[in-house]
Amino acid sequence: MTTYKIALLKGDGIGPEIVDQAVKVLDKTADKFGFAVEYDPADIGGIAIDNYGEPLPQVTVDKCKAADSVILGAVGGPKWDSQPANNRPEKGLLKIREALGLFANLRPAVIFEPLKKASPIKDEIIGDNLDIMIVRELTGGIYFGERGRLEENGVPAAYDTEKYSVPEIERIVKVAFDMAMKRNKKLTSVDKANVLESSRLWRETVNRISADYPEVQVNHMYVDNCAMQLVRNPGQFDVIVTSNIFGDILSDEASMISGSIGMLASASLSGGKRGLYEPIHGSAPDIAGQDIANPLATILSVAMMLRYSLDQPQAAQAIEDAVAKALTTHRTPDIYEEGKTKVTCSQMGDYVCTLI
Ligand code: NAD
Repeated sequence: MTTYKIALLKGDGIGPEIVDQAVKVLDKTADKFGFAVEYDPADIGGIAIDNYGEPLPQVTVDKCKAADSVILGAVGGPKWDSQPANNRPEKGLLKIREALGLFANLRPAVIFEPLKKASPIKDEIIGDNLDIMIVRELTGGIYFGERGRLEENGVPAAYDTEKYSVPEIERIVKVAFDMAMKRNKKLTSVDKANVLESSRLWRETVNRISADYPEVQVNHMYVDNCAMQLVRNPGQFDVIVTSNIFGDILSDEASMISGSIGMLASASLSGGKRGLYEPIHGSAPDIAGQDIANPLATILSVAMMLRYSLDQPQAAQAIEDAVAKALTTHRTPDIYEEGKTKVTCSQMGDYVCTLI
């Protein structure tokens, strides 16, 4: 029987509560689909500062590198707000991305039919089957480019630099094409090629690589238009690929369409199979320890892990179907609606297990 080794980084706040539910669901899925999972817990974020004096100790990096994949809860909280900027819990996230070479961030924006009412977008605009995957470059561009402060003729100024090399663009674009091949074979590359030279290089590279994926229908869109199209006609998108800064903004915009922060999963990938899977929300210190957090984003992150890192697409589908079914009757307080059964975080985990 195949055994997968998973590094478990529960983190802070609601992190441990939601990851515990994801583990329950993964174990149930493993039983059903005939594989085994071994867990290797490790500290990241505030808990790591408490135990090791830093948000990402080397032992955690080593455990992640030895694992087939990584599940992360969330980090941060008021307890660590007075830490110096370079030793805050959130630094642990940046460092783990760097240590594992995670250059591709995948953020699905999906809407589950029973939650349509929670979306700020009108029903007729959402349509029947909204399912967008945003592939964002994560380790290059303006967030990592040269920056500085200077004085020009006695006037203070500052600058940041958007720079991408061809290999950096190629590797993220290939991830996006591969993703499109597993989905509806439609790829939208988002840039600002009417203004930015780095975007023109991006576009040329996408066009060149598209020759290797003749089945994928490619179109280019300026970022300002894409921001508009996401709320005007989101159903036109399948996979979107874009740079770090544009992806940061567009993925947050797209996630709002789903209407609930507790529902959205994400994956960060390097070139290989190993990935880091986590909900997009934070550690929610305001509700931590009360067993009322919504664990579904973390449970859906496990489904992404099964699909993109562990080659278990049927197990992934089983989890996604179970979540969709659970939502028709059971709700945690953040997405509660009259007529449904209000459940705690752990009860939601248990209920999803019964549906697998
Ligand atoms: P947050 O996402 O933690 O919370 C925002 C709001 O959404 C809160 O009201 C919270 O209760 C609610 N919420 C979030 N997740 C929920 C869930 N699963 N179920 C029900 N309600 C949920 O964002 P914040 O309040 O801005 O940040 C809190 C801490 O988390 C900060 O220390 C921040 O730096 C950190 N943070 C961490 C990550 C991460 O670990 N990836 C991401 C964002 C913020």
